[in-house]
Order: sequence, then structure tokens, then C-alpha cells
Amino acid sequence: VVAILVILDGASEPLRAGPTSLEAARTPALDALCAGGSLSRVRTVAPGLPAGSETAIPGLLGWVPPAPVDRGAVEAAAHEVPLATGERAWRVDVLDHERGRAVGGEIERAAADLRAALAPRHRVHRLAGHRLLVVGPEERRFWVAQRPENVTHRLRWWPEGVVPPRVLDLSTTVVAARGAAAGIGRLMGARVVVPAGATGQPETDLSAKAAAAIDAIDGGAARVVVHVGAPDEAAHARDPAAKVAAIERADAQLLIPLVAATRRAKGTLRVMPDHGCDPRTGLHDDAPVPCLDWPPRAQECGSHHRRGGQIGTPRRLTERAVAPLAVVELAAREAVAA
Ligand SMILES: [Zn+2]
Repeated sequence: VVAILVILDGASEPLRAGPTSLEAARTPALDALCAGGSLSRVRTVAPGLPAGSETAIPGLLGWVPPAPVDRGAVEAAAHEVPLATGERAWRVDVLDHERGRAVGGEIERAAADLRAALAPRHRVHRLAGHRLLVVGPEERRFWVAQRPENVTHRLRWWPEGVVPPRVLDLSTTVVAARGAAAGIGRLMGARVVVPAGATGQPETDLSAKAAAAIDAIDGGAARVVVHVGAPDEAAHARDPAAKVAAIERADAQLLIPLVAATRRAKGTLRVMPDHGCDPRTGLHDDAPVPCLDWPPRAQECGSHHRRGGQIGTPRRLTERAVAPLAVVELAAREAVAA
């Protein structure tokens, strides 16, 4: 049977007195799944590793990284930027004066300055938004130690790290915009579909993602992973209302058709964030995330009512609903699932 995984990027957030985005969002499709499914609380980011999609998503796909993941390799794969032998890629973010994401002409100026400083041996690609990709020979240590004087912008160089291994095959389809999930899927050997109109941004075309996922299900895929980037993007933009709206859109435009397709195929559906992202600070969060499995996983059947049935806590995919549950380690759970 086909296993479908929907990743709501950055959808969870730290618990406070007020409602979280998952609590504030109206999600009738997700709520109906929760009523008949099982909830768990999963640690997706191993202690000591940075919270982020490049750390969490490989684990969700079946390989738990032992060290920080190489974001440059992930972006190069996502954007199909070729690397010659002996070359590597570095993701570089352009930051504003408050160390938030730069916007507008600032990014192009930073890219041009970096290009001038690093030519001819290194090339600078612009990715979406504030993201750049530097590609070239492995000489970074040399020029990071001697940061070019004419590059005055605030840049964040992502550290080098481990590259996810090819442990999947084409029986797994990853549906995503051109970003971390697509790159990780490609590095791990999955089939990656980037639907036209899928941007990873709040205005992304989720219907196109649903259609691509249903094509894969109907085509006999063993596993279909659909990544939704918009909640994380909205949280980074420190826009709580946009984050709630992104979750609601995922419910209406993606989950409703996917639930129907899952039922037709007699498959299983899992919905979870990869990690948290706080819309007040714009920062990632490594707390364990809520996870929904539908239909309920056999070994958990019934148990959630005893462990998770806090009086007055609605049975929804929220941080608060799973707070009483024991934390499940991703590595252990994937071993059980295999
Ligand atoms: Zn993020």
C-alpha cells in the first residue's frame, strides 16, 4: 500500500499561553483525520543538530543525519546546478542590518560584489529570495579566512556538512518546490516532481502539488512525500496571520484531495511539521513536533486515548494536544516502521 507523507514545513512552534498557529488555523480535513487517526510527538531534530529542514527532512525520508547536513549540496541538487569533480557548493544568505532576510536590490548588489570578489574560480547563483549559491573548487577555508574586503554585505555562510546518501529509489516520489525537500529527495535517490506554480512561498499552487501527488499514487508509487513550504516562509517573515492562512490553505487545497486519493488507494497518510518556526521571532525551533497517522498505527491504536486524552484538549494536530505524550525518537520509529 502507498504511504503518503505531508510535511508542513515549520508549522509547529513553541507552546505559550496563547494559541499556536496550528491551534488557530481552521483545518476541518486535518481534524477529521485526527478523529480517526493516531497522534504522536516526534523528535525530528537530533539533540545538538541545528533545527531546519535540511536536518529534519532526511530523517522523515528514512535516514537520520549524524551531523549537520550540507545545505550547499542540498541546494545544488534542488536547483540542478551541476558540480564538476572537485567542486562543491555553499549556500550563502544575504542578511539585512538586523540580521533578518535581505530583500530587493540589496540581494543583487551582494551577489554582484561576491561574484566580483570570487571570479573566476567560483560562480555565484541567485536562488529564491535572499539565498545565493556559490559553486567552485573546495577552497572555502582560504577565502573565508580572508573575507574579500569589497564584500561589505552581511552574509551568512552555511557550514559544510554531511550529504544525504542515496538510500531511496524511484518508488518514492517527492513533490516539492525547488528547495530543501526537492534537493534532499534528489540526493537520496527519490523521483522528484516540481509542479509548475509550486514556489514554496505563501502564494504557491497547492492544487498542482495535490495533482502531482495523486498522479504518483495512481502510477503505483510506494511512497509519496508532499512538502509544503509556506508555513515556514510566513513564520520567517514574522507574519503570524500568513502562517495560519498557509496551514488553512494546505488543509483545503492539499489534504482534502489527498485524503480522497489515500482512501481510493487504501493507503496510509501521515501529516507532520519537519520542525517548528516561531512567527514572532522568525527563528526555527527544535522541539518535538506533533504527528498524525491515518489510519492509526497498529501498535499505537487505543493508547493515545489514555496517554493523550487530556481533558479539554481537542484531538487535533497541535503542540498542546501531544504535549502529554512521550517523545518518540525518529530513528527508533523509522526502525519500527521498516
Ligand atoms: Zn525555515
